[in-house]
Formats: sequence, C-alpha cells, structure tokens
Amino acid sequence: MPDEADANRLAALPSVDRLLRSDGALRLLEEHARPAVASALRQALEVVRSELKASNGKGWRVPDEETLVAEASTLLERRAKGSLRRAINVTGVVLHTGLGRAVLAREAAAAVAAVAEGHSTLELDLESGERGSRQSHVEGALCGLTGAEAALAVNNNAAAVFLALSALARDAEVVVSRGQLVEIGGSFRVPDILQAGGARLVEVGTTNRTRIGDYRAAVTERTALLLLVHPSNYRVVGFTASPTVREVADLGRELGIPVMEDLGSGALVDLSAHGLAPEPVVRDSVEAGADLVCFSGDKLLGGPQAGLMVGRRELVRRCAAHPLARAVRCDKMTLAALAATLRLYEDGTATERVPTLAALLRRPDDLLRQARRLASALRRQGWSVQVVPGASQVGGGSLPGEDLPTTLVSLDPAPLSAEDLARRLRLGNPPVLCRLHKERVLLDPRTLPREEERHLLAAFR
Ligand SMILES: *Cc1c(COP(=O)(O)O)cnc(C)c1O
Repeated sequence: MPDEADANRLAALPSVDRLLRSDGALRLLEEHARPAVASALRQALEVVRSELKASNGKGWRVPDEETLVAEASTLLERRAKGSLRRAINVTGVVLHTGLGRAVLAREAAAAVAAVAEGHSTLELDLESGERGSRQSHVEGALCGLTGAEAALAVNNNAAAVFLALSALARDAEVVVSRGQLVEIGGSFRVPDILQAGGARLVEVGTTNRTRIGDYRAAVTERTALLLLVHPSNYRVVGFTASPTVREVADLGRELGIPVMEDLGSGALVDLSAHGLAPEPVVRDSVEAGADLVCFSGDKLLGGPQAGLMVGRRELVRRCAAHPLARAVRCDKMTLAALAATLRLYEDGTATERVPTLAALLRRPDDLLRQARRLASALRRQGWSVQVVPGASQVGGGSLPGEDLPTTLVSLDPAPLSAEDLARRLRLGNPPVLCRLHKERVLLDPRTLPREEERHLLAAFR
C-alpha cells in the first residue's frame, strides 16, 4: 500500500532536534539564532514532506541530513535578504506593476526617509499648534498644478474611484459608455467597482460608438453621476465615436448632474509636446469642465502609489467626509513622497528629475550609447552580444500601443538556455529582470540608471 510506504518514508525523516545537533546545523548556529535555525529546518522538512505527497512516493528517496541542512541554510539566507528588495529592471517596461511601478525621484525618496526616521508634522498646524489636516501637504500643489478648486489624496486610484462612487452615487444611477466599461490589470473592472460602491450602472451607446444624445436619453431623476473612464490599457480604433469631456460636462451642467472622469494615468504635463502620443492631461479635463477627476500617483505622474481626486470643492468635501475616506487615507511616507514629487512639477524640473518622465523622454542617441557601453563590457566578460534596435513600453496601462524606440543589448545565453539564464539573473542579488526573445536575452537600458550598471555587470559575471 502506497500510504504505508509513505508513512515509513516520513518516519525515516530526522526530527528538527536531531538536525539541530548535526555538524551542519552547528555551523549555522554560529551565525544565526537558534529559533531561526530551528524554523528553517522545520520549513525544509515541510518542503520534503510536501514533495513526497506530490510525487506519490514514486522515485522519492529520503534526503540525508546534509541535504536538509543545506536547504535550511538557503532558506535562512533568503530570509536574511528579505523578499521585498530593490531590483534591476532591464525589461524596457517603464511602469512595471510587478516591479513597483514608478521609481521615486531622489527628492521624494529623501522626503520619505526624513519623515520615516523621525516624528513629523503630519497633522499639525505649526502656526497655531493645533491639529491640522494631512491633506494640507499636497492639496495646494494638486490644485495649482491642475487648476482644480480642491483635492484629496487616498491610497490608490481604485480607492479614489470607489470612494467617489460611494460618496456621490450610492443607491443611485451612474451613466457610463459601453466603450468605457474597461478592466484594468485584472482586479479593477469598472462594472464591479460601481457595484461595490453601491451604484447602479446604466450603460449607454455601443462598444465603438457613443454619442452625447445617448447620455442625455439615459438620464433620469435617479441619475447621480455621469462617469467617463479613460480606457487606459487599450485603444478602440476604426469606426469610433465618443463625446469629448467638454460635451459631457456641458450636458451635466445643463441637467445639474456632476461629471466624474477616471483618468487612470493622469499626466500632469503634456507629453505629446515631447514627442510621445497624446495622453490626457489632468488640467485639460478640469478646464473642460469635469467636476471630479481621479488618477494614480504612481503611473505617469511618477510618484508614490496614491489615488488623487481633484475637482469642485463641494464634491471633494463630500468624498473627504465619507467614512470610507478614513479607511483609504494615505500614510505620512506617501504624502511626503507625493509632496516632494509635486514640488518638482512646480519647479518645472519634473521632466528631468522624475525618473518615470526622464526614462520616457530619453533620447535615442543616449540609449544607443548606453547599450554600446553595456555590450562592450559584456563582451569583455566573454558573452556574445549584439546591439539591436527595439522598442520599450510605457506599461502601467499608460499610452497603450505606444512603443518607444530604443536600443537593446541582445545576448546569446549559451551554454545556458535563455530561460535558465533569466532565472539565474532573477534569483541573484540584486534580482535582475530582463526580456526573452527567440532564445536570446534582451536588455533595455531605458530604465537602467548609470549607478546600477555595475550591479548588472556583476550579475552576468
Ligand atoms: C490604473 C487605473 C486604475 C487603477 O489605479 P490604481 O492606482 O492602480 O489603483 C483605475 N482606473 C484607470 C482608468 C486606470 O488606468
């Protein structure tokens, strides 16, 4: 009976206590505390037990003590390094959600460290010595940069949209174009978030064409909001039509119904002026008459994870006063990073100093130079590499279909397979994330700061 055989094999496994007395464990105990070593050994045994179960006993042998201790040692090393670590991104995706989206500006990272290491003025009005509002650190800048009357920062844009729907449209109808019922990154679907916010979805138009008359016809006395959603991560092309923000805003004003726009990325500067495809700018939506505009802090803005709401004072006030606002409020580190990032926009230095914008706007000759430098360094290490033209992506559901010309280092992984080399790079310290294409490993320098180059080269060594 296989069960009996398994039981015998399990019984043959040494106990944690016995392993702790082995020579290998004694060596580990010189460097790590006893409870940590015991826990790693327990985890190593756990792994072995689940392997036995998965294999149904076929081809499975009881590992010796040395193997178990070696496994525990790897676990201890991994734990000491921590799992959330800095990583090197040469995938060519600037806003990579898996890699933490926007990289903070140096000024923003310093502001985070400053409020993290000491007490701070988070909710203190220094003038009066009284309790102040944590929003005061960012509201002025957000209003100044977008032309809005009022602003509110919460944990992320999903929370901002959810809060707005809960505060403004609970038990009421929200009119949305069928062409804008989008899903962003799997966990954010417009119909679902409407439902969760207690609003009733009223779909208008068709997937490719919606007219202003469709919105007008859908409005009833139960309508609380006209909602526009920027279809961030895809594009409808061909026979299409949708009214402008201004047209919908004018209709809303005529009928006395607020208009909210979920902009997603929310650029604060017009990137098309720098040669990128046009992406809606928050100020333009506010100027066109949208009453409330929501966008992310860590997409094109290039700041910390946050959801920003800007718009008419009365609507922002209702959102801020809703009990959910307390549940999704930002912490001091987010606010410090956001305030410092917004200051760079106010200074007019954002395109150079906000890493997301700087990476998007890197010049082709600069990328070519960096790719060549990396290629020669890798050649000196004995790798066979080529420098080839390629494309980077914005990522983070921003500027869909917009490929940015770049120069790639294309590396022959031999004697390893491309998969194996990529895996080794991923498991290194720091982890390196690259792209694979047709059995070659591709490195895009766009998101590689100069000071990370030596770590990348060390990883290949
Ligand atoms: C990205 C995005 C969201 C979600 O924003 P998070 O900050 O990731 O929560 C919502 N709506 C749109 C249109 C988006 O592009």
